[in-house]
Amino acid sequence: MTTKSTCEAVTGTKEWADRNVNCCRGCSHDCVYCYARSMALRFKRTTPLEWPKEVVLEHELVKKRRYERGTTMFPTTHDITPGNLQACEMVLKNLLGAGNKVLIVSKPHRVCVQALIQSLAEWKGQILFRFTIGVIDEDLRKLWEPGAPDFAERLDSLRLAYEAGYETSVSIEPLLEPWNVHSLIRNLRPLVTHSIWIGKANQLRQRTSWKLPADHPELVRLLSWQTDDRIREIYENLHDDPLVKWKDSYKEVIGIDRPQKAGLDV
Ligand code: SF4
Repeated sequence: MTTKSTCEAVTGTKEWADRNVNCCRGCSHDCVYCYARSMALRFKRTTPLEWPKEVVLEHELVKKRRYERGTTMFPTTHDITPGNLQACEMVLKNLLGAGNKVLIVSKPHRVCVQALIQSLAEWKGQILFRFTIGVIDEDLRKLWEPGAPDFAERLDSLRLAYEAGYETSVSIEPLLEPWNVHSLIRNLRPLVTHSIWIGKANQLRQRTSWKLPADHPELVRLLSWQTDDRIREIYENLHDDPLVKWKDSYKEVIGIDRPQKAGLDV
């Protein structure tokens, strides 16, 4: 997951946490719009074929973690997957054991969430799970996030964390089905204790150009639903909902600039 949130990782880090930690290079979710991949491609640190192959950075696993004030976000330039679960678990235990508050951001796999809610239980009060769930339609999910879990699995993972008594939050960034946002929120909100963040797919043409032609019908369709007018309409319909928070991409259009509670400590 990139904090231009799992996957808008960089923006997400700034808006949601004081620092970020990662322990892998590459991500098997292979999202077409991935910010981390687009940066890695730009600086020739990966290729489109290499990116989905996750490489664990061993030095991150043994790094001694110290306590730092505020919220630490993990991960931001990859995700937690069955392939790197053990490594991620090790880093999370090191961070939590040092007393840090950790925002865990993921397009969640059921098997990973099952493992984490058990193995991290002693630090439950230091953890906020934020799951990225921006699309219900399975054809669209396969187009935009081909290696990531489907909607049903993500919803089930959210339920597992919620029922285990963890604080839960959802990132609807990027919102990949703006025409379906109300249905998305109706499904999610009973399982959310903390917040639901909405943001658009940023720099969509630029970040997807490695894969999608500029006239791809779904790319064109999504862009046509991210206009300022449509963003304002979504805001008007949802701004009274106390769980809903707005990412920078929406705030810029709406013209609001108030701080919002993003992590456990804010
Ligand atoms: S989950 Fe998707 S957006 Fe996030 S790091 Fe992986 S490929 Fe990139």
